[in-house]
Amino acid sequence: SVFEGLSGKLQETMKKFRGQGRVSEKDVKEMMREIKLALLEADVNFKVVKDFINKISERAVGQDVLESLTPGQQVVKIVHEELIELLGREQSKVTFSSKPPTVLLMVGLQGSGKTTTSGKLASLLRKQGKSPLLVACDVYRPAAIKQLQVVGGQLNIPVFTIENNTNPVEIATEAVKFANFKQHDLVIIDTAGRLHIDEKLMDELLNIKKAVNPHEILLVVDSMTGQDAVNVSQSFNEKLGIDGVVLTKLDGDTRGGAALSVKTVTGKPIKFIGVGEKLNEIEPFFPDRMASRILGMGDVLSLIEKAQDAFDEKQALELEKKMRTMQFTLEDFLEQMQQIKKMGSIGDILGMMPGIDSKALKEINQEESEKNMARTEAIIRSMTKKERNDPSIINASRKKRISAGSGTTVQEVNALLKQFEEMRKMMKMMTDMGKRSKKGGLGR
Ligand code: GDP
Repeated sequence: SVFEGLSGKLQETMKKFRGQGRVSEKDVKEMMREIKLALLEADVNFKVVKDFINKISERAVGQDVLESLTPGQQVVKIVHEELIELLGREQSKVTFSSKPPTVLLMVGLQGSGKTTTSGKLASLLRKQGKSPLLVACDVYRPAAIKQLQVVGGQLNIPVFTIENNTNPVEIATEAVKFANFKQHDLVIIDTAGRLHIDEKLMDELLNIKKAVNPHEILLVVDSMTGQDAVNVSQSFNEKLGIDGVVLTKLDGDTRGGAALSVKTVTGKPIKFIGVGEKLNEIEPFFPDRMASRILGMGDVLSLIEKAQDAFDEKQALELEKKMRTMQFTLEDFLEQMQQIKKMGSIGDILGMMPGIDSKALKEINQEESEKNMARTEAIIRSMTKKERNDPSIINASRKKRISAGSGTTVQEVNALLKQFEEMRKMMKMMTDMGKRSKKGGLGR
């Protein structure tokens, strides 16, 4: 499927990195090397790769990343962000003229999928309320005109042609007049393609452009052709000026290089992708979704975001201090539980934890842990603030009141108090150890 090789390699690199608690400049360099190789192998333009790597390296070795609580995750996030940037950042929609009909000129090499895409686009935009007219301007190949008529027939969208006319400029001009007359607010012109770019084709397209003043010129390129797709895009853009690219055949086993290079090399956005031969197999292009798809980590990324929303760094440091000095109370514990809940289910959170594989995850009884958490919360909520801050005052009668209030038993209240005391000791031990190894034994 799309980007399989690239995805696999990047994901492997990311996985190694994601869970790392501490990251050195050397680690980052190693990661950059792996990403670079993966991109080059995916046929991404060399210059694009170089710029991309420079950008992430610069950001990834920044002090705020290396010293953050989750450097591995931060680096993954940076790679994701820069990938989105590479793909064009925002979704670029096709625009419509304020003076209908909107004329879209479809251009591209023969076999790129121009005719199919013209039909797909007409159908897609009709769903958005437009009334499209398809125009067959490939006067050199009768088969091409016939093909567009077949597509139009399948979609029940009219196709404009002029029998025995070999002048594409005339056909295009007449088509726009016809659309005006028939109140079509959208005209999609399918033009002739060649196997290679030549002067004659460019002249013809320029003449059509002059005659009908298209609202947008969309270049259709075959993503299977890799670097060639990028070169073709560059030439068309220089000679004709294009407004956007439709990348076809992304359903095949393309290595993805074209998708990742087109925007940077031409400066023009990918607006749609073709993902199959059927006439509904076209999708608007979303840079963020594509980046997540390439990194194969849509879920993880959203969890990282959620975690960052839930825990800000200052709060985390405050908490660490409390743990270290044994000032961590049941009140803090309750607050922590709320933040964890904000991040999603226990399963979600464990799923993103490094070192927990899916097999181990299955063995953890999610329902049971969530019930436990709910019970713990109920018990703490049944305590007074004073009790939460100093559990040592909780005597037998208080325990009875708490268990009644939370719908639990006195044994369960006892268990929680005992568990909490042990947790506090453990926290102190762990934070002390952490401090020592971090500051080389000096402590704070
Ligand atoms: P044109 O010469 O540029 O008009 O190209 P066509 O529209 O005739 O398409 C050439 C071939 O590519 C046809 O067999 C199409 O079915 C196929 N094709 C077009 N777009 C896609 C796509 O997104 N995915 C796949 N798998 N095939 C496509």
